[in-house]
Amino acid sequence: MSAPSMPSPMPSQPPGRPDRGDKPSRYVPSHIAGSPASLTAAQRELIGRVAELGPGFAERAARYDRDATFPFENYVDLRAAGLLGICVPREYGGLGADFATYVMVAAEIGRWCGATALSFNMHVSSCMWSGFIADALEMTPEQRAGHHRIRAQHYRRIVEEGKVYAQPFSEGGAAAAGAAPWGTIARQVEGGYLISGKKIFASLAGAADWYGVLCTLERPGHEGRGTRRDSMYLAVPADAPGLEIYGDWDPLGMRGTVSRNLAFKDVFVPEDARLMPEGLYFQAASRFPHMFSTLSPTYMGIAQAAYDFTVMYLRAEVPGMPPVKRRMYPTKQIAVAEMRVKLEATRALFLQNAREARVDPDKDTRMRLYAAHYTIMENANDLCRLAIRTCGGQSMLKSLPLERLYRDSRCGSLMLPWTAELCLDRLGRECLYEAGEKDEQIE
Ligand SMILES: Cc1cc2nc3c(=O)[nH]c(=O)nc-3n(C[C@H](O)[C@H](O)[C@H](O)COP(=O)(O)OP(=O)(O)OC[C@H]3O[C@@H](n4cnc5c(N)ncnc54)[C@H](O)[C@@H]3O)c2cc1C
Repeated sequence: MSAPSMPSPMPSQPPGRPDRGDKPSRYVPSHIAGSPASLTAAQRELIGRVAELGPGFAERAARYDRDATFPFENYVDLRAAGLLGICVPREYGGLGADFATYVMVAAEIGRWCGATALSFNMHVSSCMWSGFIADALEMTPEQRAGHHRIRAQHYRRIVEEGKVYAQPFSEGGAAAAGAAPWGTIARQVEGGYLISGKKIFASLAGAADWYGVLCTLERPGHEGRGTRRDSMYLAVPADAPGLEIYGDWDPLGMRGTVSRNLAFKDVFVPEDARLMPEGLYFQAASRFPHMFSTLSPTYMGIAQAAYDFTVMYLRAEVPGMPPVKRRMYPTKQIAVAEMRVKLEATRALFLQNAREARVDPDKDTRMRLYAAHYTIMENANDLCRLAIRTCGGQSMLKSLPLERLYRDSRCGSLMLPWTAELCLDRLGRECLYEAGEKDEQIE
């Protein structure tokens, strides 16, 4: 397979100004998966599909960032390329991508537009969780039959109607960290559920057709006593009465995700709104922890973009910049070498993680998972920092993409449930304690 086309999220060249003469760049950026030879033909083809859309994403990224608006045009492209159904199982008309394939595709989107990749992950999660993750979990035969019937409707919306899902999960309390039940409640009523509560940072707010809401099932007579085991995952249509989008959206980075707040006031949804059977979300979160690591591929892509920008900048191949080379200085060469070491270490853990996702991973695999997720999020931001330091002052002008990559990359390690802090917290505890072990309280 040929290398993906140049991932230069650069401004288009001013008309009539041939900055770099007529010489095309000889720099060949890395494939997002390192060596494409290690991939299946289907993986190569899907990543290649994104690489073709990428220059368009990159062209628009500055505008979405400046205006903090949703990348609708990119979703038109993703829809036309069949990618909205990337993780819809084949028997439902989707592309049937597995975990490894999806995360590599997500990283390729991230190298062109971080906000598109991050918001796309919210959409795809609704298909992964109800798809191959649910298939790997235990259900009664009745539950499985019901789930297959319901998810067929959900997948039909995506594959045939091109609908997009959001994933409002965070609430501003301990629930999104997995430390408490959801504060958003679903009360069982005749024919369905009434949802009440609020969600913060709902990417695709106002852009999604459906919101896949995590909430706690409250059974009659058990008010206020729902636990994390009672988690429900319900699809709410964007025009449902009682659903309100509110709050400003003017953040540091990932501005195109438009992650505003949602309020649910007795929003009715029918029983068929269940994206997973009752109790299955808790089982998924406990037994398929890789489900939360799909937030990091976006940042793998940003790390690659920051590195590529740096190389092109030092080679004087960034469109719109004066043709002043800087690559001959030994300090620049050392700096790029350090960046490359960090990038390849990040990619190695990214690929390891991509291939290790499975139900009931052993403890060692889980430790590697936390380590990989932490590393990708932190290294992406560090690579952007190094890129600015190495390229210098002109590189952080708003007319170039690097300062946006830097701001977007800052958001990665803040994402719950696995912020950088919480990854370290889990790693530190679980590295030192085996299941059931406790110590005397230290005074
Ligand atoms: C660009 C962007 C897009 C987002 N999109 C979505 C989305 O689509 N859907 C969605 O649901 N969320 C989304 N989020 C939200 C994100 O996942 C986090 O929930 C959010 O950033 C948490 O912010 P907070 O200030 O409320 O964190 P807090 O809950 O106040 O936590 C602050 C920090 O304290 C630490 N902490 C929190 N709880 C614990 C604990 N129990 N033990 C120890 N330490 C803890 C963590 O390290 C955390 O970073 C998005 C966030 C961003 C920045």
